[in-house]
Amino acid sequence: LTRRLRPFTSTIFAEITELARSTGSVNLGQGFPDTDGPPGMLRRAEHAIGEGVNQYPPGAGEPELRAAIGAQRRADYGIEHDPGSEILVTVGATEAISASMLALVEPDEEVVLIEPYYDAYPVAVAMAGGAHRSVPLRAERGRFRLDTAALRAAVGPRTRAVVLNSPHNPTGTVFTADELAAIAEICRENDLLAITDEVYEHLLFDGRAHTPLATLPGMAERTLSISSAGKSFSVTGWKIGWVCGPAELVSAVRAAKQFTTFVGGAPFQPAVAHALNEERPWLEELRSGLQRKRDRLTSGLRRAGFDVLPSEGTYFVCADVRPLGYSDGAEFCRALPERIGVAAIPPQVLCDDPEPMRHLARFAFCKRDEVIDEAVERLLELG
Ligand code: PMP
Ligand code: GLN
Repeated sequence: LTRRLRPFTSTIFAEITELARSTGSVNLGQGFPDTDGPPGMLRRAEHAIGEGVNQYPPGAGEPELRAAIGAQRRADYGIEHDPGSEILVTVGATEAISASMLALVEPDEEVVLIEPYYDAYPVAVAMAGGAHRSVPLRAERGRFRLDTAALRAAVGPRTRAVVLNSPHNPTGTVFTADELAAIAEICRENDLLAITDEVYEHLLFDGRAHTPLATLPGMAERTLSISSAGKSFSVTGWKIGWVCGPAELVSAVRAAKQFTTFVGGAPFQPAVAHALNEERPWLEELRSGLQRKRDRLTSGLRRAGFDVLPSEGTYFVCADVRPLGYSDGAEFCRALPERIGVAAIPPQVLCDDPEPMRHLARFAFCKRDEVIDEAVERLLELG
């Protein structure tokens, strides 16, 4: 293994999922839903296979899907994209992120990450030969807050880009208007690119609305906005993602994507186009159902003795393990499957500096109610 990849040999999601499997645990670790997406979308994929949509799709993605992505962004955010040059379909958001780094980050450049970060980001930066710097979210006064002074301080002469993920995995934080304004200002002042991971753009709770960073003043021309169908339509295994932005940036990402996977997921592309165009009511049900599941798991975790931080979006909630006599969330998560048969993820492993997240465990609530209830039953045994 190369030096640049040596720090990243296994993902925490694979490790905890394997532990959950070998112990027969209820897996609230890896975030994937245990029910299917909209039936009309699933049928559309079956039809596409039956109709022979099984060969290489166009390099930028099926025109029908790019048009649907453009229409969604216009309707939801008032953003206009030329589907011919400003929208690229990728193999999940993951490829959009790694191809963006390969295309735009030089080996001597830096990318600023907000931690805890999705584990693919530092690896994508490292594969491009760049280096990352990170700035923390801190749990303060019952909420995770961005240290904007630390963000400003992390930017140096070699900084090329900032990555923003809102709603944020693993904390469930939705960045505030003030936080977004501060990030945008720092990008403008230092002429940085913004790479925004918006895979949870539809999963916000309590009436919150998603604000893409690209809609802030001076940001459209410097932002690559990334999303995917996995979370919005409960098809994490389909890996249909996309990246939208100014033509010259998207064309650079396309140059890299051409030689990583070229294309992918032909029969799923028309199905996702259908979902974006027609399945808004289903998506609204998903969102309200997830909000109820968040409340169900939150109250269960509180009954089990945890202090629970608010989840404003995504399908994750973080809980403080200290009231249960643990001081370390990673030790807690590694012991939990064996001890009571529940799996969770320690957010500290998604950080360069584990300290601010040391006391937390992340639980996923994108599961059937009976699965959440079974996990809570088992967690009550901890007390
Ligand atoms: N970013 C974040 C924040 C995620 O949580 C995930 C999914 N788990 C991804 C990216 C990956 O998305 P995809 O499966 O579309 O590659
Ligand atoms: N995004 C999901 C999570 O955070 C799954 C990640 C993965 O398995 N790579 O749990």
